[in-house]
Amino acid sequence: MTRVLVVEDDPQLVRALVINLQARHYGVDAAPDGATALRLAAARQPDVVLLDLGLPDMDGVDVIKALRGWSRVPIMVLSARRASDEKVGALDAGADDYVTKPFSMDELLARLRAAVRRTEDTPLVPELTLVRTADFSIDLLAKKAVRAGRDVRLTPTEWHLLEILVTNPGRLITQKHLLQEVWGVSQRNKTNYLRVYMAQLRRKLETDPSHPRYLITEPGMGYRFEE
Ligand code: CA
Repeated sequence: MTRVLVVEDDPQLVRALVINLQARHYGVDAAPDGATALRLAAARQPDVVLLDLGLPDMDGVDVIKALRGWSRVPIMVLSARRASDEKVGALDAGADDYVTKPFSMDELLARLRAAVRRTEDTPLVPELTLVRTADFSIDLLAKKAVRAGRDVRLTPTEWHLLEILVTNPGRLITQKHLLQEVWGVSQRNKTNYLRVYMAQLRRKLETDPSHPRYLITEPGMGYRFEE
C-alpha cells in the first residue's frame, strides 16, 4: 500500500483528501502542523508527502528542508499562494512538484501517481541511456539525437540542458537549477539564456516548436520534459 502523509491545517481540505485517497486505497496519515509532520514522516515512512506551505507553526519550506536532511521521499507542495517565488523556493528546497489551490482532485491524484512512479522507476544509479518519444529519440550515452530518421546536431550547451530535462521526465525543473547546472552559480539569474536555448532545442526536436509537446515551459518557474 502506498502511504501518503498529508500536511495541512485546513480540516475541510484534510477531510476531502483523506476520503479521496482512502477510496483509492492509499494509506493516509494527516498532520495539522510542521512539527507533527516531521514526527510522522520519521515514524510512518510515507511514500509521498502532500505539503501545504502555510502552516501554523512553521513555514512549509522549512519542513521541506528538514525532511531533505534525511529523506528522499517525494514532496508535493499544495500552495494557495499564486506568487511563483514561493513555489520556486519550495522546489529549490527539495520539493518535487506543486499543485496550486484550488486544485481538481483528478489533477492532484495524477500528479501524485507520477511522483510515486518516479521514485519507483529511479534506481540510485541512473541507468537511463535511451529516451524515446513518438517524434525523436535521444541516446544519452552516444550523445546522439535522431528525429524523423535524421541526426540532429546539438551544441554541448543544448545537450547539457536536454540531458537534465529528459533524465527527469515529468518533473518540473526550476530555472535556477538549470542555470546553475549548465552555466554555473554566477549565471543563475540569466533566465534569457534559458529562453534562447529552449527555443533552439524546440526548433531542433519539436514538430511544432511554437506549440511544444515535449519541452514544456512552466511560466515564471521552469521547464518540464513530458514523454
Ligand atoms: Ca494552510
